Amino acid sequence: MLLKENGIPIPEGKAAHSPEEVQQIAAEMNQPVVIKAQAWTTSRLAKGLIQFAETPAEAFQKARELFGKSVNNFPVEVLLVEKRLKIEREFYGGVIINDAAKAPEIIFSSKGGSGIEEIALKYPDRVGRMKIDVVEGLKDYHARNLIRRTGIHGSEQGKLADMLVKLWKVARKYEARTAEINPMVITSEGQFLAADCRITVDDYAVFRHPELGIEIAREFDHPPTPLDKIAYAAEKNDFRGTFYFIQLEQGFKKGEGFIGFHGAGGGGSMMSMDAVQKRGFKIANFTDTSGNPPASKVYRAAKILLSQKNIDGYFGSGSGVASQEQVNSARGLVKAFREDKLGVPAVIRLGGNMEDEAVDILTRYTADLPVKVEGYKKDDPADFCAERLEALIAEHKTQQVRYPENGLTAGHLPADAKKPYEFKTLTGRVLFDHALCAECKNPVCVSACGPQILKLESGKPVLAISEAEAAKGKCTECLACELECYFHGNKGAYVELPVPGLEEYRTRVN
Ligand code: SF4
Ligand code: SF4
Repeated sequence: MLLKENGIPIPEGKAAHSPEEVQQIAAEMNQPVVIKAQAWTTSRLAKGLIQFAETPAEAFQKARELFGKSVNNFPVEVLLVEKRLKIEREFYGGVIINDAAKAPEIIFSSKGGSGIEEIALKYPDRVGRMKIDVVEGLKDYHARNLIRRTGIHGSEQGKLADMLVKLWKVARKYEARTAEINPMVITSEGQFLAADCRITVDDYAVFRHPELGIEIAREFDHPPTPLDKIAYAAEKNDFRGTFYFIQLEQGFKKGEGFIGFHGAGGGGSMMSMDAVQKRGFKIANFTDTSGNPPASKVYRAAKILLSQKNIDGYFGSGSGVASQEQVNSARGLVKAFREDKLGVPAVIRLGGNMEDEAVDILTRYTADLPVKVEGYKKDDPADFCAERLEALIAEHKTQQVRYPENGLTAGHLPADAKKPYEFKTLTGRVLFDHALCAECKNPVCVSACGPQILKLESGKPVLAISEAEAAKGKCTECLACELECYFHGNKGAYVELPVPGLEEYRTRVN
C-alpha cells in the first residue's frame, strides 16, 4: 500500500486468512494467481513461501499447504493472493542506510535481486550503487545515470528511474533503514511494477509514524506475540538501562528442554546461549537487561520470562564482567522468583561489578525456595554454568515442587493491612505498613536504602525527601527496603511494580 499510495504500481491482490478465502479470490480474479505467505522473512520463493496456481481449486490446495507452514517458529496466518504476472524481465531497486558511509545509498541491479550481494560480485557491471545527498535527494538524472551504468537505455531507463525516485521518496517519508523492491518487473504487456517490497522503518522513527500501526519499534522476525507486546510496553518509557525481550518459540511442552534465557549484554549473551544449546537445550526466548538497569526492570523482565508456559529451566548469563551493579539484578530476580513461586531450577551468572554481594543476595534470599537457584561469578565460565543447569534440571525431574500455602513472597502486605504509608516511584509505589513497623525491632529498611531517601519518624519509615522527588526517580526502585525488611525486619515493606497486561495474559494461557 505504501508504494501504491506514493505512485509506484503494484500487482492487483487481496489478503486472505483461510484456504476458502484464497479460492474465492482466485475465482474472482479468473486467471492464474500467485499466493504469497505474509511472513517476516526474506527469500520467500526459495523457502517455498510463494506458490503459483492455475485454477481456484489448485489455489485452495496450495493455500492449505502454506497455512500449515511456520516461519521462524510462528505459523503463517495471512496469504496475499495476486494476479500472476507474465514477467519479461526482473530488476532490483533498493534504498539502504549505509552506516559506514553515514548516508543513504541507492542500489539498482539489472540482473534481478535474489542474492543481491552475490550478483554484485559476479556481475559488477550490472549492479550500480551511489550515495544520496539527503539535502538534495535523489533526482531523476541521478537515477538515470545509475541505471545507465548497469546497461539499461531508452524508455526503460526513464520508467525505472521514475520508480527509483519514488522509492527514495517513500524511504525518506517513512524514515526507512531499508526499502527494497525485489523484483521490480516489466511484464509482457509492458507494465512496470513493484512485484514485491520490503521496508524496515528506523526503530527510533517509529513513534513519528503511528499511521503504520507498528506495535513494537524493533526489528522482529515474526509478528510480536502478546508477551513481546507486554514486554515492550513495560520497557518503552523507562530509559534506565535496557530491557529487550523476544519469544523465539511457542507451544512447546514440559520436558522438551526449553530454557528461559536472560542475558546481559550482546556478546556474553550469545556465548551463554551457545553454552546452553551445546547441552541439547533449546532457547525459548531472548531477554537482555543491561546498561545498569534498576532492579525493577530486571524484576519485570524475569516475571515476563517466567510467564512462558513449560520452560524447564531459567538461565541468566551474559557478559562475565558486567559493569552494571549486579546487586540490582539479584534483587530483581529474587523478588520475581519469590512472587511467582519459581517452579524450575535457575542458574544465574552475575559476574562483574558487586558480584560478591549480588550472588550472596541471590542465593541467601532464595535458599528457602523448594527449587534450586545457584549464583555464579566472573570466574565461572558460561559452559560450567550451563553444565550446572543441566544437572539441576535432571535432578529436578524427580522432585515435587511444593510451596507453603501462605507463599514465600517477599513483603506482600497482609490483606488486612490498614491503609499503608505510601509514595510513588518512577514506575510503581513503595508501601510501608506502619502497624507492622510499630512492632519492628530492626528497621533495616532505612539503612538498606542506597540513595538514603528514608528516615524514621516516631519509629516508622517515611520519606526524607519530597514525594515529587521520589516519583521523579530519587527512589531508584532498588528493592532493598522490601527484601531486607522481609528477611530482617517485620515484613512491613512492599514495592509494587505493575506489569500491565501480564496477569490477564497468564489467566488466558493457563
Ligand atoms: S524494616 Fe520493615 S517492618 Fe521494619 S520499619 Fe522498616 S518497613 Fe517497617
Ligand atoms: S525506598 Fe529506597 S530502598 Fe526502597 S526501593 Fe526506593 S530507593 Fe530502594
